[in-house]
Amino acid sequence: MRKSRAKSSELAHSYAVRLMQHLVVPTFVIDPNRRVVIWNRACERLTGVSAAEVLGTSRHWRAFYETQRYCLADLVALERPDKLAELYPQYLVRSEHGMGFSAENWCVMPKLGNHLYLAIDAGPIHDEDGNLIAVVETLRDMTDQKRAEMALQALAVKDGLTGLANRRAFDQTLQTEWLRGQRSGKPLSLLFVDVDHFKLFNDKHGHQSGDECLRAIAAIVGAQALRPVDLAARYGGEEFAIILPETDRDGACEVAERIRRAVMDLKIAHGAPRASAHVTLSVGVATQVPTLELAPDSLLGQADQALYAAKRLGRNRVTSADTMLSDVAGFIAARRARRAAQR
Ligand code: GH3
Ligand code: MG
Ligand code: MG
Repeated sequence: MRKSRAKSSELAHSYAVRLMQHLVVPTFVIDPNRRVVIWNRACERLTGVSAAEVLGTSRHWRAFYETQRYCLADLVALERPDKLAELYPQYLVRSEHGMGFSAENWCVMPKLGNHLYLAIDAGPIHDEDGNLIAVVETLRDMTDQKRAEMALQALAVKDGLTGLANRRAFDQTLQTEWLRGQRSGKPLSLLFVDVDHFKLFNDKHGHQSGDECLRAIAAIVGAQALRPVDLAARYGGEEFAIILPETDRDGACEVAERIRRAVMDLKIAHGAPRASAHVTLSVGVATQVPTLELAPDSLLGQADQALYAAKRLGRNRVTSADTMLSDVAGFIAARRARRAAQR
């Protein structure tokens, strides 16, 4: 009786092994000591690692990663759900059949030399007495879906014409940097960049040339957002904005001046009546140390006023919100003096 039960369990075992070998789903199995007991053909194809290389060893991690670490099946065998967050960007603990885990991860795939985004499931197998006898790990290659998802995500935050961040990304980043500034107590600067007499440019050179001009300016604006924390965005139509965290007024004015000069150096012909010979920009600069009492709107409002002042002062210039009142007063005084001298 005992003998026949042992025989039938052996049969079931070899049947299960053969079934797994031919399963189209990449699958491997480890024993309670975390040694590989099954590494199926689909797993060989997915990883480029042959069963002969890993069977009887605990080197299965080498099929997926360059440095030694736990695979999902190891965490199931060791009952270490606490390690999931550290090792996987996405994971789930399934409790319906023992302690099973699901996770997703970018894997290095050293043997193949290409990165794959894998969806991974690992579940325990217990004997009748509840002892762990194996852990089965199945893998799904989700690389194409993940890449498509990432491309869509990138599109959702990018402006189609210029490739800079779009208005939505700008609003989100400004909010985040405002909160960060509140915590750090460091100044946050904002630049509003507006093309001078752009309506006249379109009227004279056509909308197509207008688009090309915007792309050329966007390239300069983007190149001046030098640090990874800076954000250059297309704020709307022919307006661009740059968020400069931890930057004081003088630093922000320097960036603004570099952009203004670089666009002048492009010498894009304008020449419409009332406009300069070449395309120019006006830039409004605002700097604040974010506080709990104020909101990002106050910084936006100041940058907008500074830009308006730059336009009033004759365009093709950088004006800071801190100095605009004295700049405008000086401008009016100089104009009065000129007129008085003409009389
Ligand atoms: P100012 O110097 O006062 O800024 O004058 P402006 O003509 O630049 O300002 P206004 O706001 O009157 O006109 C902005 C123009 O920008 C009008 C619009 O046709 C043009 N514009 C906005 N978005 C685009 C775009 O995507 N492509 C092109 N070619 N033109 C655009
Ligand atoms: Mg404008
Ligand atoms: Mg304009």
